[in-house]
Amino acid sequence: MKKEETTPKYDVRYYRKRVELFRLIDKIKLWPSRRGILHGIKSIEMIGDQARITTHCNKTFLINNSKNSRAARCLRNKWFKGVCPSCGIPEWKLAKYSSTLFRRKYGSSLTDRGEPP
Ligand SMILES: [Zn+2]
Repeated sequence: MKKEETTPKYDVRYYRKRVELFRLIDKIKLWPSRRGILHGIKSIEMIGDQARITTHCNKTFLINNSKNSRAARCLRNKWFKGVCPSCGIPEWKLAKYSSTLFRRKYGSSLTDRGEPP
């Protein structure tokens, strides 16, 4: 008999809506470009209150730590049109991201390394 095909499932994780952008991208390692393309983040380097992001397709740029920036909104609302072909973001990472939800009153605010309250 054939085994039933199982699709890998991820626990739904919740983050606060007003989670800090730096902590969020440090966690999910994805970056939405201005043109709506998701890139994979290779490294994040903190420089004062900015961060230098390097993507897997070797783009480098500085970002500000804002909870309400364009990028933060895109990530929360999953506004993206496509995935960068050069970054080669693995399927599992996208699946994990798509099972991540943002709530106003529930979830981790990522302010410490512990469990959500
Ligand atoms: Zn890319």
